[in-house]
Amino acid sequence: MDDTRLVFGIDLGTTYSCVAQVDQFDQAVVLRNFEGKSTTPSVVYFGEDGTITVGEDAKDASKTEPERTVSFIKRSISTDDAYNKPTKFPMGLDPTEISSYILKKIVKDANDAGQSDNEVKKVVITCPAYFGSKERERTKQAGIMAGLEVLAVLNEPTAAAIAYGMKVSDKKNIIVYDLGGGTFDVTIIRVNNGAITVIATGGDHHLGGVDWDTELAKYMLNQFNKEHGKSYGLDDDPVLRNQLMILAEEKKKSLSARDTVKATVTYEGDSTKMEITRDIFDQLTEFHLDETIEKTKEVIEIAKNKGTATIDEVLLVGGSSRMPQIKQRVDAELHCDAKLTDPDECVAKCAAIFALNESYNKAMEEYSEGMRDEPPAKMIRGTGGATGRINVINVTSKTYGMGCLDSETGADVVENLIFANSPLNGNCKASSTFYTVQDNQSGVSLPVFESDVTDEVNERTIPQNAAIPMEEGEPSVLKLTKKWPKETPIKVIFDIDTDGILHVHAEVEQDSIDFEMRIKGVKGQEELEAATAKIARAKIQ
Ligand code: AMP
Repeated sequence: MDDTRLVFGIDLGTTYSCVAQVDQFDQAVVLRNFEGKSTTPSVVYFGEDGTITVGEDAKDASKTEPERTVSFIKRSISTDDAYNKPTKFPMGLDPTEISSYILKKIVKDANDAGQSDNEVKKVVITCPAYFGSKERERTKQAGIMAGLEVLAVLNEPTAAAIAYGMKVSDKKNIIVYDLGGGTFDVTIIRVNNGAITVIATGGDHHLGGVDWDTELAKYMLNQFNKEHGKSYGLDDDPVLRNQLMILAEEKKKSLSARDTVKATVTYEGDSTKMEITRDIFDQLTEFHLDETIEKTKEVIEIAKNKGTATIDEVLLVGGSSRMPQIKQRVDAELHCDAKLTDPDECVAKCAAIFALNESYNKAMEEYSEGMRDEPPAKMIRGTGGATGRINVINVTSKTYGMGCLDSETGADVVENLIFANSPLNGNCKASSTFYTVQDNQSGVSLPVFESDVTDEVNERTIPQNAAIPMEEGEPSVLKLTKKWPKETPIKVIFDIDTDGILHVHAEVEQDSIDFEMRIKGVKGQEELEAATAKIARAKIQ
């Protein structure tokens, strides 16, 4: 097979993960796991004997040995606290390392099953649109530690828009409402004959199917407590909690197809049988649905302010969009007929199409520069037919600024340089000039902040407590190449790459200096190599 085609898409999901490839017939297909399933639970079990199990068996083990099992690790990728070692995770691992075990397992299964002609190596990994620079870097490092070459980190809703964008040839503005297992993203995207331009994005990284499960689990426990005169809480016992959460997820899924389900809760010799209707479930979870609608409206407003007022189509993606309450409510609120698109596999498949497209463009470039003898094979049919046509422009999900003193008031402020929803077109840059404050200054500390502000006019300067420092503790010092006198201008440049990762460098006269931040959970080169070697040695089943 032409090596241009040996690229893969990976949906590293909160609850399930999946690998896909564009096959020799130009169709995006999912590579099945060891059990023959298209998706693998993103659950990791750490056995007493040091074995690591990922997937269905790990999910089963979580019922009886919750302390040895890790679920929903993707949520922790966006939590700095989760990177404090020793952490609450087994073996002192951090969320990136645990994610890399999940990646390693799904890639191993795809390779072992021999569904692809070649090893899964070059990949595009998807992440929620709201992930900021550090979460994206952590995601990329999870891939590297799993032994993969990460070609790009692609937003999940953008991936979904690729599928849609390839089917229409005229210009359309679409909303992608993406409710997954643990995260909610809403993104407004313009598709126009292969060009996919994100207009605005927003979401909530702690809102997803698991929150619907939690409400149902609490309800079932209440019914049990009522019958047996008990007062157990969901967090009283991890075994009870995991059993109820798994039962709740199962019943929730059934309620997507049926109006009523039966459930039995058994604990410490007592048991309660109950009937749960979809109406009850919808009432219990309505407040979460309200939150998604509120977020959706906020993003619509942002898009309006950026000149995109009409919406032509609403796409529902993410496994949780299967709940009938979602389409009903979205249709009613947005006056539309929202389309539910292949929620389990769509993201990985479109990441594979995107990967192939990138790979093809790169090979064409190499061919035209004489670095390749043959042009890459052209693809003409099916989803791969879009090769060389897809042009994705994302936006940054966060605002980035420099901490400094307000020259008038002396207050600690952040001067915002790049605002959320700025296009990531390869030229997402901004700079500001700061000055040395004393003679012979050989270094300057650069406190970089991240926030969610979107109002470029009124929020150019915000108080420091309205933003989050990128680094914990004292900010790193930019080492200047020599000692400079007081009042020397230092131009600080922020540059966000097409993966949404922030790079900072500075210019002092002719000197250009890269600035390395010590971001929690983002490993330095040596640390990364050591972790990669450790994970390569680990036996995962
Ligand atoms: P994703 O992160 O997109 O893989 O979505 C996973 C989430 O979708 C989990 O919370 C699942 O419980 C949920 N899910 C999957 N299938 C269904 C279904 N039929 N009805 C309701 N929720 C579902």
